Amino acid sequence: MTKIHNFSAGPCILPQEVFQKSAEAILDFNGSGLSLLEISHRSKDFVAVMDEARAIIKRLMNLGDDYEVLYLQGGASLQFAMVPFNLMKLESGKAAYTDTGTWAAGAIKEAKKLGKVDVVGSSKEENYSFIPKDFKIGSEYDYFHCTSNNTIYGTEMKTFPKVDTLLVCDMSSDIFSRVIDFSQFDLIYAGAQKNMGPAGTTLVVVKKEILGKSGRDIPSMLDYSLHIAKESMYNTPPVFAVYASLLTLQHLENNGGIAAAEKNNIAKAELIYNEIDRNPLFATYCKVEDRSLMNACFKLTDESKKEEFDAAWKAAGINGLNGHRSLGGYRASMYNALPLESVQVLVDVIKNLK
Ligand code: PMP
Repeated sequence: MTKIHNFSAGPCILPQEVFQKSAEAILDFNGSGLSLLEISHRSKDFVAVMDEARAIIKRLMNLGDDYEVLYLQGGASLQFAMVPFNLMKLESGKAAYTDTGTWAAGAIKEAKKLGKVDVVGSSKEENYSFIPKDFKIGSEYDYFHCTSNNTIYGTEMKTFPKVDTLLVCDMSSDIFSRVIDFSQFDLIYAGAQKNMGPAGTTLVVVKKEILGKSGRDIPSMLDYSLHIAKESMYNTPPVFAVYASLLTLQHLENNGGIAAAEKNNIAKAELIYNEIDRNPLFATYCKVEDRSLMNACFKLTDESKKEEFDAAWKAAGINGLNGHRSLGGYRASMYNALPLESVQVLVDVIKNLK
């Protein structure tokens, strides 16, 4: 079998060890003779998985007891609605958002259903090719929401603004990819299916003290406080996704943690961006200072080379390189589990195009 170099945007490559151990747990979980998929989520063995999956997040993020960790369902997309339900005041609710791509716009759309939304910065008119930076967020807002990495457009926030309100961030596509001070956020969410695990669960990390103040009668399944009270087991959790996420996080912790992942991610990003910048046949879409470490989006400068280039990367065993349909071109997603070697294979293909 030829080696596949998987640049998929998510779901995406995970550590091989995670695939191996997940497969074992499906056949025989902890030597119990039972599959992970057939035991009760209330069993001692699964409760231990959930407890550790919640605890490891606080260790990796260096957060204390003022934060709670939840594994929910409904994807990051459900968080677009849960955030305003829980944080936007019922009377005269108002939140600030930046519009930096399709997913940020999705979050804005849901928040508008519950209150007033001010878009304080947007790169929409320039096809989301940069991260807006110069804005002030005052205390008149219930919260400020941003998207740390724009998966489709390949832009990433390098710093986060100081705001006089709650800071909420969708970190779906760059969580655990670089060292950041997680304590500056009041609420972080991320669909697991990039750096954290398989599709099927969404991580929510929330500062307890910010909850219970919206004045809304929140539907139970959308209520963070209820999920916290039930230790992320209000209803049947997605047991497989939580377990495989735990394995992915343990792999991260055992291999140098976020700092080591960041070092690898910088090396991978430099390798590809340096080649694209050097090579007149290729170009990126976005402002250099806002380029993502996770998703390198690029295009051919000479479309007549498309057939030849597409055939070459496919022949090299590269998978998942086509850009998102709203941008076109190519997108090399280089999540934590993607080895440098795969980026080198892609760079060699790019170099060989004449
Ligand atoms: N936010 C970002 C930044 C994303 O990349 C995605 C999906 N790729 C989403 C939100 C939506 O996530 P989900 O499919 O888990 O609802």
